[in-house]
Amino acid sequence: MNEMFENIKRGNFPGKDELISILSTDAFDIDLFNTADVVREHNVGKDVHLRGLIEFSNYCRKDCLYCGLRKSNKNIKRYRLTPKQIIKLAGKAKSCGYMTVVLQSGEDRGYSLIELCSIIEGVKKFDLALTLSIGEKTRAEYKEYKAAGADRYLLRIETTDADLYKTLHPKMSFSNRMKCLDDLKELGYEVGTGCLVGLPEQTVESLAEDLLFFKSLDADMVGLGPFIPNPDTPLFANKGGTFVQSLKMLALSRVLLPKANIPATSAMESLDKNGRIKALQCGANVIMPNVTEGKYRKLYALYPGKICVNDSPLGCRSCVENKISKIGRSISKDYGFREK
Ligand code: SAH
Ligand code: SF4
Repeated sequence: MNEMFENIKRGNFPGKDELISILSTDAFDIDLFNTADVVREHNVGKDVHLRGLIEFSNYCRKDCLYCGLRKSNKNIKRYRLTPKQIIKLAGKAKSCGYMTVVLQSGEDRGYSLIELCSIIEGVKKFDLALTLSIGEKTRAEYKEYKAAGADRYLLRIETTDADLYKTLHPKMSFSNRMKCLDDLKELGYEVGTGCLVGLPEQTVESLAEDLLFFKSLDADMVGLGPFIPNPDTPLFANKGGTFVQSLKMLALSRVLLPKANIPATSAMESLDKNGRIKALQCGANVIMPNVTEGKYRKLYALYPGKICVNDSPLGCRSCVENKISKIGRSISKDYGFREK
C-alpha cells in the first residue's frame, strides 16, 4: 500500500495537497477505499444506523439552480403534508424499527413556528431521535425547534467555493449559510453538512476545500452525493457528478472525520444499482430508508432517477436489511448519536 495511506491509517490526516492528488487520479482509488473501510470499522464498527426519511413538503421559496423543488419550477405538483400526517408517518418509522426520523422539506413557509414545534413534539412522543433538514432559518427558530426536542440538523454547504455558491444560489448568501451552521453547533445540535459532487465549474481544489471545511466544522454527520442534472432546471444540460468521484469524497470524509455518521445516500444509488452497498464498504455507516408514502415519494423530485419511488416503507425496510446483512454488517439498535 502507498505510504500516504499507511500514514493515514496511523491517524495522520491528509492535507490539501494530498486530497487534491487523491481526487485527481484513479491511481489511489483502491488504497483509499480500503483505508476508509478500515477507518470505519475501527471507529464506528459494523453497525449501520437506519434513519427513516419523511419528505413532508416539496414547496420551496429558494431557487437553487440544480434542484427540482426550486420555486421557479412550474412542472412539479406541490404537496404539503399536514402535521397529523407527518406524525403518523413517524409512527410508521417507529414500527419499522427505526430509531431516528429525518424530517426533510423544501424551505416551506407554509408551517408556522408553532406548528413545526408541535410536529417535533408529536414525533418525539414516539421516543425517536429527530433530525431536521428544512433549510436556513433564524437562530431563534433553531432554538425553538431544539427546545421542542429536535436533536440533529442537516444543512449541506453544497460547495465552499463562494463564487460558485453565488452563481448556483440566486438571492442566497454564503455567509448566512455558514452562520446557520455555526448557530446550529452553538445551540447543541448534532450538525450534518455536505456537498454536491460534480457541479458545473467545480474543481478538485474546491472539493478538497469542501472536505477541509467538514473537518474544521467537526461535522457530526456528512451527507454528500453526485449532482444529478434535473431536466426541469436551468442546469439540465450539464454533465453532473460521477459515482466514483462521489465515493472518493465519501471515503475521504471518513478518513478526515473517523467517528462521524456518514450516510450512503440515495443519489449514489441512482447512479449505480449497488451504490449504497458500495458506499457502506467505502466509509459509510448510515442508510436513510424512505418512509414517505404513496404519490408523495415521486413528487419529492430533487433530481431525476430517484430510487424506490414505487416502494412502501415496509418494502424499503426489508430491502435495506437484506442488503446490509449480505455484506456482513449489522443493524444498530440504538439512536446512533455520534461517538465522541
Ligand atoms: N431544502 C433543504 C433540504 C432539502 S434539499 C436544503 O436545501 O437544505 C436536500 C439536498 O438535496 C440538498 O442539500 C442538495 O444537496 C440535494 N439536491 C438538490 N438537487 C439535487 C440534484 N439535482 N442532484 C443531487 N442532489 C440534489
Ligand atoms: Fe429548496 Fe433545498 Fe432545493 Fe434549494 S436545495 S431549491 S433550498 S429544496
